[in-house]
Amino acid sequence: MTQHVRALLLTETGKPQEIIDDLDVDLPLDHEVLVRTCACGVCHSDLHFRQGKWTTFPLPLVLGHECAGVVEKVGPQVTYLKPGDHVVGCLTAFCGECRYCLTGRMYICEGTGLSRTGKSRARLRYKGKDIAQFVNLSGFADMLLVHERALVRIDPEMPLDVAAAVGCAVTTGVGAAINTARVRPGETVAVFGCGGVGLNVIQGARIAGASRIIAIDRSEKKATDALRFGATDAVLATDDVVGRVVEMTAGGVEHAFEAVGIRATAENAFAVLRPGGMATIVGLLPEGERISVPATALTFDRRLQGSNMGSNRFRIDIPAYLQMYKDGRLKLDELISRRIGLDQVDNAMVALDSGDGIIRSVAVFG
Ligand SMILES: [Zn+2]
Ligand SMILES: [Zn+2]
Repeated sequence: MTQHVRALLLTETGKPQEIIDDLDVDLPLDHEVLVRTCACGVCHSDLHFRQGKWTTFPLPLVLGHECAGVVEKVGPQVTYLKPGDHVVGCLTAFCGECRYCLTGRMYICEGTGLSRTGKSRARLRYKGKDIAQFVNLSGFADMLLVHERALVRIDPEMPLDVAAAVGCAVTTGVGAAINTARVRPGETVAVFGCGGVGLNVIQGARIAGASRIIAIDRSEKKATDALRFGATDAVLATDDVVGRVVEMTAGGVEHAFEAVGIRATAENAFAVLRPGGMATIVGLLPEGERISVPATALTFDRRLQGSNMGSNRFRIDIPAYLQMYKDGRLKLDELISRRIGLDQVDNAMVALDSGDGIIRSVAVFG
């Protein structure tokens, strides 16, 4: 038995997504949870799929992965959640059994058994055909049917539109600084890119106690806005940005973060490191892209690493981030530039590349 729900469907890359009223969402099987979606943020990763830069999922597809809602129904064997619980979804669902989960790195879980792949029916169907689920979530729909280990229960007093933003942008950015790079009190930090993720790297570095946090962006407004999130300096991304940062920090920073997703900024992040420094690539570079660094720089213990979804343990991290928000230590209201309807999501997604000062647009449902 299924139900028809409203959703935003991508049928062809590079073309506008359309609203449909008849996405079939199945009922929960073992370990699955049906969630009434209340909010879903518009993230750059969604745009990459809309543009066809990434092609991991077959079309048609319902995008959206920064989502929060209320549990409607739970399937057999679900003990963690019950109807009425407020939840945030995370795209790094964990199986709890693979070598990564068992070594505390559930953010790179192998994911066995988390989707319905190979089972008799799909979670989502459209016009009688099975369709793929985007990162086990597909959040731009009135209902989500997900594995229970893609969800974290949150304080029901927390506004769900704010909580949604924590599911991707905050977990990715704050986690990159705190979990992946482990920024220490007193260290110096440079952050390339002051969008939704970059601002959260800055917040993470501030919470970790960094002494200096240099915000870099090609938009002067974005770099300056980053001062409100804890950056100590705003620098325009011009041709001599590397020299500028090295000069400002008398030899380079201890931590640099790339939060744009392009080769030049990734290479610049490595170039501003002092000996012993670490560059953490948070932005998602296009498929097939390569980056190169001078080999001699590695001699002095400089390191380059990736960060997947802020190396999160999201059932621990997300409630902790929401508590920091409650305590006034993490700025979340300021991240949400506007609340929109599902019919405005496609425009908001395309506008992400225009640098018009919008940090996060969150679609609210109902
Ligand atoms: Zn995202
Ligand atoms: Zn696992």
